[in-house]
Amino acid sequence: MKLKITILPGDGVGPEVTAEAVRVLQTVAGFAGHDFQFQEKRFGGAAYRASGNPLPADTLDACLQSQAVLLGAVGGPDFDELPRHLRPESGLLQLRMALGGYANLRPALSYKSIADCSPLQPAIADGADILVVRELLGGLYFSEDRGFSEDGSSAFNTMRYSVEEIERIAHVGFREARRRRRKLTSVDKANVLETSQLWRSVVTRVAREYPEVKLEHMYVDSCAMHLVNDPRRFDVILTENLFGDILSDESAVITGSLGMLASATIGGTVNLYEPVHGSAPDIAGRGIANPLGAIASAALLLRYSAGLEQEARDVEFAIHSVLEAGYRTADLARGRSRIDLVSTVQMGMQVEKVVADILDSRHAYHAV
Ligand code: NAD
Repeated sequence: MKLKITILPGDGVGPEVTAEAVRVLQTVAGFAGHDFQFQEKRFGGAAYRASGNPLPADTLDACLQSQAVLLGAVGGPDFDELPRHLRPESGLLQLRMALGGYANLRPALSYKSIADCSPLQPAIADGADILVVRELLGGLYFSEDRGFSEDGSSAFNTMRYSVEEIERIAHVGFREARRRRRKLTSVDKANVLETSQLWRSVVTRVAREYPEVKLEHMYVDSCAMHLVNDPRRFDVILTENLFGDILSDESAVITGSLGMLASATIGGTVNLYEPVHGSAPDIAGRGIANPLGAIASAALLLRYSAGLEQEARDVEFAIHSVLEAGYRTADLARGRSRIDLVSTVQMGMQVEKVVADILDSRHAYHAV
């Protein structure tokens, strides 16, 4: 298989963690005999420094001509004073719009071996495994009917959803649930909002095409509560843009460190994969960032852009394995004594080693 992947390391810890994700992808490609072609482009603050533009034309062209984009993170204090349109974060919004992905997928897992990192008690979080499927291009954030009153004494935003927008994200949610534990919780505020009433009726209709998936509807306030008092009750959470923004961050407490979390944005021209965290300027350049969120994002790339489900699972298994073996970057080490504290590169190499062992034994088995 041939796959063109554009790498956008970005700023701060972005280059450090993406290098480890690329290391793992190269190992997978090498063993499985796939031709992954990587091209690296400047993006964010790094691109602004070099060219005065956080999203240069050649970077965008490269992204649009590839099958997947793997991003590190952008931003940092050096760019905070720039006019809004030149800031790295503005480049990120432009990139997301240009790639056109409408479905943002954010897995949140409880890893037994780092359960002490989560503020939730193990008795509550143990075994939780949630996928938040968030609609990304509609709702309050994107409607044009917005603004301030003339005298500035009030402001307004409007939430608008079309049947088509709800249908397409609902299909993503149900397809994901079908691959997982076959339960989908659709989250809305249908007791108050018309957009939620439409959401609920469309999701109920789409559900008929997926009879094997159990659908439940839940109000967003209730979901926010259950996420911290009974996260194991959820499998796939399907929701609109604003609710998804909040609930996906909340569900991150299950895992316990921002550095662990991955995301995929799919459904557009080119899929975008990125760890959830930002550029972490407080630890950038010290080689201590956790690369597992970036590596888990690479696993999502294998699943959604390369169609390599088994290899995606291998990488996810390797992440579990290295944590089980006691390897931890500094963000996972708080207050622990008996651990193997490792750098960003060492963590990446440990994952690579496990992935290589798995692929090696599988290929040896097939060769017999
Ligand atoms: P952040 O995610 O960069 O950092 C928050 C905290 O988490 C920090 O203490 C940091 O050290 C820690 N952290 C983050 N990633 C880590 C990792 N991989 N390993 C270990 N610890 C990690 O958020 P912030 O400090 O609010 O933002 C810093 C910059 O990043 C800002 O300029 C912001 O705009 C930008 N940002 C970018 C993105 C993105 O590129 N998608 C997302 C969020 C923030």
